[in-house]
Formats: sequence, C-alpha cells, structure tokens
Amino acid sequence: MATAIITGSARGIGAAIALRLAKDGYDIALNDVAESCFENNDIADKIKALGVKCEIYIADVSKHDKCEEMVKKVKADFGSIDVLVNNAGITRDGLLARMSEEQYDLVISVNQKSVFNMTKFAGAVMMKQRSGKIINLASVAGLYGNAGQMNYSASKAAIIGMTKTTAKELGSRGITCNAVAPGFIETPMTDKLSDEMKSAILNMIAMKRYGQVEEIAGVVSFLASDDASYVTGQVIEISGGLSM
Ligand code: NAP
Repeated sequence: MATAIITGSARGIGAAIALRLAKDGYDIALNDVAESCFENNDIADKIKALGVKCEIYIADVSKHDKCEEMVKKVKADFGSIDVLVNNAGITRDGLLARMSEEQYDLVISVNQKSVFNMTKFAGAVMMKQRSGKIINLASVAGLYGNAGQMNYSASKAAIIGMTKTTAKELGSRGITCNAVAPGFIETPMTDKLSDEMKSAILNMIAMKRYGQVEEIAGVVSFLASDDASYVTGQVIEISGGLSM
C-alpha cells in the first residue's frame, strides 16, 4: 500500500486532501502542530472508515529537527513515503508599514522553511525508493502579490521557486514535484476576511463563487496519480478564473 503524508491536515484544505487521497487508496499520515488540533475532529476516523491505515503525527513543520523525527517515524510505521503534500500554512496579514518583524519571520518559517524541511527529509526517502510525488500548496498571492500580505506572498512565491528546484534536482530519481496555487477557498483561513474584502474578491472571480476544499483536493489527487507521471515543475492555479 502506498503512503501519503499531508502537513497541516487536521482541518481545511489539508484535511480534504487527506480524505481524497485515502479514497484513492493511500494510507495516510496526518500531521498538525498540536494534539488539540485533532480534538473534536473526526478526520482520522473518516479516513480509517475507508479501510486504509491512518496515523497522526504531531510536529511543528517549521522546525527542522521535528520534521526529521516525523519523517523517520512515518517511514518506520508505513514502510514507504510515496506522496508528500506540503500544505501547512498560516497568515499574519498587515500592511507593510505596520507589519512587525515577528509577523514576517513567523509566516516565512511556517509556510516556506517547512517546505525545505519536509522536502529534504521525505525527499531522501523517495530518492532511495526512486519514486515519489511532492505537491506544494502555493497561492495566487505568490503569483500576483496581495496588499497586506508581504510575508505570505513572499513565502508562496518562494514555494514556486522551490517546486521547480525540487523538480530539477529529484526528477532523474523518478520524483515529480508540482504546486497548486489556490485562489479564495472557503476555509477557516479565509473566514477571517472582512465582509467588504470578501465581496471585493467575489467581483474579481470569473465564476463568481469561492472554491471548495474538495476542488483543491481533486487537483492534488491528479498530481499524485499515474496520470500525472510526466508532469513536473508546474504550478496549477485553482481560482475559478481570478486572473485572466
Ligand atoms: P487552515 O484552515 O488554516 O489550515 C492550515 C492547517 O495548518 C491548520 O490545521 C494549522 O493548524 C496547520 N498548521 C499551522 N501551522 C503549522 C505548523 N507549524 N506545523 C504543522 N501544521 C501547522 O488553512 P487552509 O485554508 O486549509 O490552507 C491550507 C494551505 O493552502 C495553506 O498552505 C494555505 O496557505 C494554502 N492556501 C489557502 C487558500 C484559501 O483560500 N484557504 C488560498 C491559497 C492557498 P492550526 O489550526 O493550529 O493553526
């Protein structure tokens, strides 16, 4: 049985990706930053009900040593790591003039350094296997920028560069690496936006609605599948036509 590890998968897009990959037949390694993320949360039960194996790994993916430990445990528990989805992400928005150094550094370490950490350690397992699929969560903010998100857009633009570098470094070992760049998807992350901001965003979207988490999970499922075996180093925007 093949194994997928999805970072930040207690809720939101990560949980939807985990559920979808479980439906595709993967054993699932869930991750989030604290035990409390999985309290009052039935994601692991829903996955197990599909007849696949599912374990929870608590680790802050911005921490290099915690990622190394987690990857070792997942490899020991499951035997292989076939898909890595670098999903964990946070926002600490604010206009540049008011953004603190702490706000900047935290978002860079959780969103961007985590991709370095996890790709390094899970990528090493995949290199030995000579196979693997890595899928990174970028954002339209990384493609086009977004006022109030200097930190977030920097981290997401970096992830696009890291995706292409990973594709180039690991391609000869049978490993693909791609990114998805969601637009505005209904999750706890976007619930925080003001009503004014929400209606301004809707006006810019060709399809005049927000995306659903399952619409991100479907594209990730494709990128993890054999149908995408010759797709690497690509960024797929999933935004309902936000930018054209
Ligand atoms: P979400 O609902 O906030 O979920 C993110 C998950 O990551 C949470 O469970 C969070 O745990 C976890 N996490 C945060 N810091 C972590 C850490 N250091 N280590 C491990 N896990 C950590 O966000 P989402 O909307 O599903 O977003 C998922 C990904 O898609 C992110 O990378 C985001 O940037 C990207 N994205 C989202 C949208 C959108 O419209 N929603 C658009 C573009 C891109 P806590 O609950 O403890 O914080």
